[in-house]
Amino acid sequence: MSAATLENLVIIGSGPAGWSAATYAARAQLQPLVYEGAISEKNRMAGTLPLGQLALTSEVENYAGFPHGNLGAFLDSALPKERRMMMAPHEGHGVTGPELMELMRQQAVNFGTRIVTDDILKIDFSKRPFTLQPADGPPVLARCVIVATGASANWLGLPSEEKFKNRGVSACAVCDGALPRFRNKGLVVVGGGDSAVEEATYLSKFASTVHLVHRRDALRASKIMAQRAFDNPKIKVHFNTGLTEVLGDDTQGVTGVRLTSTVGPQQESTLDVAGVFLAIGHTPNTAFLDGQLELTPKKYIVWKKHFRTETSVEGVFAAGDVADDYYRQAISAAGTGCMSALDAERWLAHQAAH
Ligand code: NAP
Repeated sequence: MSAATLENLVIIGSGPAGWSAATYAARAQLQPLVYEGAISEKNRMAGTLPLGQLALTSEVENYAGFPHGNLGAFLDSALPKERRMMMAPHEGHGVTGPELMELMRQQAVNFGTRIVTDDILKIDFSKRPFTLQPADGPPVLARCVIVATGASANWLGLPSEEKFKNRGVSACAVCDGALPRFRNKGLVVVGGGDSAVEEATYLSKFASTVHLVHRRDALRASKIMAQRAFDNPKIKVHFNTGLTEVLGDDTQGVTGVRLTSTVGPQQESTLDVAGVFLAIGHTPNTAFLDGQLELTPKKYIVWKKHFRTETSVEGVFAAGDVADDYYRQAISAAGTGCMSALDAERWLAHQAAH
C-alpha cells in the first residue's frame, strides 16, 4: 500500500462553501486539496453528487452579481470546453445553479486548487496531522481541514416511498422532472417551503397539474415565491394535508397517492398522479464525522466561537450548510467558506510560527 501524503489543507465538499474556501486558500498559497465527492448512484440517490445542492436547482435569482441576462458567451469563455459540453445550453435567463457551481469550481482551479472526485468516508481528528480515508485510495494526512459537506434532502420515510424511488418518487424536480414518465401527467410535490414552491413551479412546465401538498394551513415559503404558486393555474395547493402512501405497481411505477387531512377527523382521499417529489427540508451531511466534532441536536456542526468557523477540534473548520440551519443560502455558504479559509490560513500561520 502506498504511503499517505501530508497535505496542508484538505477541503471536504464542493458546494459554494467548499469552492469559496478553495479560492481563498489557493490565492493564499495554501495549496488546498478538495474532495468534491464521488459521481456514484449512491450519491445521486442521496442528493450528494459533486457541486452540491445548487447543482440540483434551476435558475438562481438571488445570488448577488448575477442579474437576468445572457451569460452564454461568458460561460463559453470561462469554462473548459469538456465541462461546458456536458452542461445544458444557456437560454438567456439568470444564472442557473449548475452554471454558478461550474464557475465557482473553475475559479478555484484557476488559482491552483487540486480536486479529487471522491468521497471521504472516515476521518480521525483525534491526533494531528488528521487522517482522512477516501472511498478509493490510500489515507490522506492533513494539517488542517475545512468541512463543507452541506446538507441533503429529507424523505418522509414511508415504505411505499422507498419502494417507488426512481420509479416516480424523487427528491429533485430539476434532476428528474423532465423525464417522459412525468409529461402531461398529474404530479405531487410535498412541502411548503421555498424548495417546494420552486419545484412545483418548475414541474408545472411539464405536468398537467401539480398538487402542492402541505401539512399546515400556510406556506413557509417567502411571500414572492408563495404568490408564484397561488398565481400559477397549474398548481393546486392542498393545505392541512399529509401524504400517507404512494400508490403504484411494478410495471408503471407511481400511479397515485393517498392523502390524509392533518386537522380534524383523519379524512383520506386519493389522487391519480405519475410522480411524487419531496421538498421537506434537509439533513446536514455529518454522519461520516462519527461523533468526532461537536454537533447540535439537529446534527449540524457547532461553531465554537461567535462569528468564527472554528469547530470543537483545533485545526478543523466548518463552512456552509453543514454548520448553518438558519440562513442556508448559497451566498451565505460562500461567505462562510471564505471565512473558513481565512481562519485556516491564520491557524496554519500560527502553527508554523510556534
Ligand atoms: P424549509 O424551509 O425547511 O421547508 C421545509 C418544508 O417541508 C416546510 O414547509 C415543512 O413544513 C415541510 N416538512 C418538513 N418535514 C416534513 C414532513 N415530515 N412531512 C411533511 N412536511 C414536512 O426547507 P426548503 O424549502 O428546502 O428551504 C431551505 C432553505 O433554502 C430556506 O432557507 C429557503 O429560503 C432556501 N431556499 C431558497 C430558494 C430561493 O430563494 N430561490 C429556493 C429553495 C430554497 P412546516 O412549514 O410545517 O415546517
